[in-house]
Amino acid sequence: MRVPMIAGNWKMNTTLSEAIELVNEMRRELDEIGNVDKVICPPFISLAAVRELINGSSIKLGAQNIYFEEKGAYTGEISPLMLSDLCEFVIIGHSERRHYFNETGEIVNKKVQAALGVGLKPILCVGERLEENEAGRTEEVVTEQLRSSLAKIDYLSGLIIAYEPVWAIGTGKAATGKQANETIGLIRRNISELYDGEIAQDMRILYGGSVNAANTTEFLNQPEIDGALVGGASLKANQFLSIVKQAAEIRGRL
Ligand code: PEP
Repeated sequence: MRVPMIAGNWKMNTTLSEAIELVNEMRRELDEIGNVDKVICPPFISLAAVRELINGSSIKLGAQNIYFEEKGAYTGEISPLMLSDLCEFVIIGHSERRHYFNETGEIVNKKVQAALGVGLKPILCVGERLEENEAGRTEEVVTEQLRSSLAKIDYLSGLIIAYEPVWAIGTGKAATGKQANETIGLIRRNISELYDGEIAQDMRILYGGSVNAANTTEFLNQPEIDGALVGGASLKANQFLSIVKQAAEIRGRL
């Protein structure tokens, strides 16, 4: 049985003191919720401080991006090696990075390889844009993103996929549970073809896009959906706690 995961992507929000405040607000309650992996992904500058705060708890830490080189003259970049003793997860290929920072499938692929190479667990994001969705191209786009992101990678150790339709991110317009479940089923079939059935069955695949405390059940009740990557609602302690509690409760019943 796959352990559900709720990951909070704080994006470019929170100063160091705000990050500390947010963690302090939810740490105790979050720590106590079982049957679900709870991951928070603050900005780089707060990772070390947040790590100290959650040390010894069941809360896990992730970064929001990496560069693919190990070290060198890449001003402003953060390497997988630097993150490897700081956090467990790293979000790769988020649509905001693909669109605002021109990250191609090839770059995403290099990042996934680099992360896996140092033992970081990538949360690999894929998802179609509105016009692609409306043109009925979701399957084609998601399949292509998945295959290019995972090219030449034999070993997926701990990799998690997040299906995030671009039109649902930060818009308040979430997909329906049924739509998300279908696309996540497609992703699982692709993993089965690219790797094998067992790897596909064990892989956690999350939904992301305007998940909040009010619509969590819609997604977590779907058999293919193993949790959520949460943006906006992860910045509010009470919302995030409610999402995590609901995930634990729903999955605990299955
Ligand atoms: C995200 O950033 O991955 C995301 C899903 O954002 P939101 O929940 O705000 O749509």
